Amino acid sequence: MTFEELQRLEPEALAEINAAGSAPALDQIRVKYLGRKGIITQALRSLGGLPVEVRPQFGQEANRLKKLLEQQLASAHDCLKKAALEAETAAGLDLTLPGRQLDRGRLHPITQITREICDIFTRMGFQVVEGPEVETDYYNFEALNIPRDHPARDMQDTFYISDSIVLRTHTSPMQVRVMEQQQPPVRIVAPGKTFRRDSDLTHTPMFHQVEGLLVDTDVSFADLKGVLTTFVHEMFGPEVGLRFRPSFFPFTEPSAEVDIRCVICQGAGCRVCKQTGWLEILGAGMVDPEVFRFVNYDPEVYVGFAFGMGIERIAMLKFGIDDLRLFFDNDLRFLKQF
Ligand SMILES: [Zn+2]
Repeated sequence: MTFEELQRLEPEALAEINAAGSAPALDQIRVKYLGRKGIITQALRSLGGLPVEVRPQFGQEANRLKKLLEQQLASAHDCLKKAALEAETAAGLDLTLPGRQLDRGRLHPITQITREICDIFTRMGFQVVEGPEVETDYYNFEALNIPRDHPARDMQDTFYISDSIVLRTHTSPMQVRVMEQQQPPVRIVAPGKTFRRDSDLTHTPMFHQVEGLLVDTDVSFADLKGVLTTFVHEMFGPEVGLRFRPSFFPFTEPSAEVDIRCVICQGAGCRVCKQTGWLEILGAGMVDPEVFRFVNYDPEVYVGFAFGMGIERIAMLKFGIDDLRLFFDNDLRFLKQF
């Protein structure tokens, strides 16, 4: 190749680079001039065969051309990239938009209320304990003063796993389990799932309860009323009234059911309170001395009270929900409201 031929390469190569419309086209040009068998590469290799007096000038020019083409190819690549990005932006991609927020999860309303209930009792010195959902007949009935032929067993439609194993029908078995393990004073609340064979507007086969137990040497019904009144006022507000009605439970004596002034109608009477102005929210009573005998507490020394409530019931009143089944339909439109 002569020096003149070498000089003519520049306008030719630059024109080709300008005309190239894609990255592969640019690559072809690079191979043609700068590849292992490219024109400029060959020219540099042939340097040794040239007359000595033209060699420096020829070599300089070839190297200059090589650098120039490398630069031009690189900037042509950049231009193509920029153009592609601009085309995308024009098609509706707005690079200034903020990123998408993550959809964060939240606690189920039943979990929220369970924690709130436990918080209130924890502040009063109670300890939170949890126990098995599959329970023996002994803990679920027998040790709670509900023997096999006791009529109270008819009040509960039980899921039997076998003759002596059941899905617990209440959280009360935890009373016995804790008292077996520990001497008084006892102050516990036991939240958890319970199971009964019920399914209609106001019952689901699985539901949640919180059980409470306090045992000590100097405990009276007044203490029970004080603890439950504090609970209701913390949960529903200090203006909400309560009443204790005599009732019956096999493991407490005397027993009471606790009503609160209807939080929907403030006592005037409505559909939720069935026009009575009162809402039943929990059962309670002084622990029957018979129960103490099962766990070897001396009933002459120790006195205690126990209470239990349905968590769904509390949640429905607190949030103003009128259909129990909504809790378990797993509809996010419902669950995201809490
Ligand atoms: Zn009402």
